[in-house]
Amino acid sequence: MPEPDPLRDISGREDERLLVHYTDVAGYMRQVEVPLSNLDRDYVASFDGSSVYGFTPIENSDLLLKHVPETLVSVPWRSGLWRTIAAVYSPRGERSPLDPRFAAERAENALSSMGYRVKAGAEIEFFIFDKVGAEVLNPTRGLGYAVESREQPGREDGIFSQIKKSYHMPEPSDSLLEYRLRLVEALKKFQVDVAVSHHEVAVSQVEVSVGSRGSLARLADDIITVKWVSRVLARMDGRVATFMPKPIYGDNGSGMHLHLSLWSPSGENLFAGDGEEHLSETALHFIAGILEHARSLSAILSPTTNSYRRLVAGYEAPVYVAWGWRNRSAMIRIPATAGNRRAVRIEVRSPDPTANPYLALAALFMAGLDGIKKKLQPPEPYEGNLYKISPEELRERGIKTLPRNLDEALDELESDNEYLRPAFTRELLESYLEVKRREAEDTRLYPHPIEVYKYFNL
Ligand code: GLN
Ligand code: MG
Ligand code: MG
Ligand code: MG
Repeated sequence: MPEPDPLRDISGREDERLLVHYTDVAGYMRQVEVPLSNLDRDYVASFDGSSVYGFTPIENSDLLLKHVPETLVSVPWRSGLWRTIAAVYSPRGERSPLDPRFAAERAENALSSMGYRVKAGAEIEFFIFDKVGAEVLNPTRGLGYAVESREQPGREDGIFSQIKKSYHMPEPSDSLLEYRLRLVEALKKFQVDVAVSHHEVAVSQVEVSVGSRGSLARLADDIITVKWVSRVLARMDGRVATFMPKPIYGDNGSGMHLHLSLWSPSGENLFAGDGEEHLSETALHFIAGILEHARSLSAILSPTTNSYRRLVAGYEAPVYVAWGWRNRSAMIRIPATAGNRRAVRIEVRSPDPTANPYLALAALFMAGLDGIKKKLQPPEPYEGNLYKISPEELRERGIKTLPRNLDEALDELESDNEYLRPAFTRELLESYLEVKRREAEDTRLYPHPIEVYKYFNL
């Protein structure tokens, strides 16, 4: 039986078009449009790799795109419009070593050559705002009011009054149900199955969680799809969606918790075992690998200067390199599974939605795999509230802090990256460091509104 070939089925149609998406090194999704009338299955377009983050220098800038045919879907908001995701190729027709999707594919190959199948899911949090003003540049109006939302309390109430009141909030306090329902419906048309959606803890904050597609690259494809469709639908409502990790001072930020497990080719969950909470030795080694490389991973999982404003005490995001059972103050948590062996998995809570999902998934699985290869053992899980841990206890237990800013994280990635080699080409790693160093520097050079607020009259 020949493989079904959806691209061939639609090619040649007049007046219909295809949106082709790929992701640059920094994690921005990029798009070109091509007509179906003369669609070439194997070639989309050549493009200027020097005009996106991290690809190629201007003097040698040509790259090619090729469809990943199984990603073809129709775009629900416009008839005659289709969408594929593309892989990036060099002009000589080899896979580009800089394509983030390639890193996810290579990670998966490294795992499968050792007899592991991956299963992963993502909880994606983001904010919907009615208006984004320039007020952030005018700190006398109060920080945190750079954005406005119909759920935002009046200024006289102060933003703090809303904290933690909005988690799982129904209408009428929730103003986003209609939006979420439309989003979930649209995502279904993109073959992205949203397991759960709900209002999150912060005002105007949404969460959608997506399950595994049975491949790392396909899950990352789903994540970029969720971000794109969320933004487009918000824009259709005259609103804006943002995935920046900490848009509002004093309220929860947006994370992108990743749920991971390894399976045997015959469909057995290798994280389920006879240990405490049904964890296997393999799962413990995997956890130990992630903790071992946590500070280096931070540069990929929490990859923007804004990410580090989220990783602070008090907002359900991790601050320390630690794990726990049900502990939402820890970097790794083991979700409750009520004895269901198929559900046994780990949840990594430090990633946020500005992470390039191809790189984040690849890096986490490579860190876990390194733990398995070296049979690393994790420390005892931490049972207390890590936000209240004393400096003495941190020292006694040898618990490290996650990097406090992007530069610190990049230093760690620079000195600890061997474990990434099976997935990350040298070119990709170098390019990533360069792009992110420049980004960190941009922020470092700008006077910040809080500095004007604090020091103007000093
Ligand atoms: N928003 C939190 C974070 O930054 C998570 C909150 C939650 O999922 N309950 O990770
Ligand atoms: Mg959730
Ligand atoms: Mg959540
Ligand atoms: Mg979670």
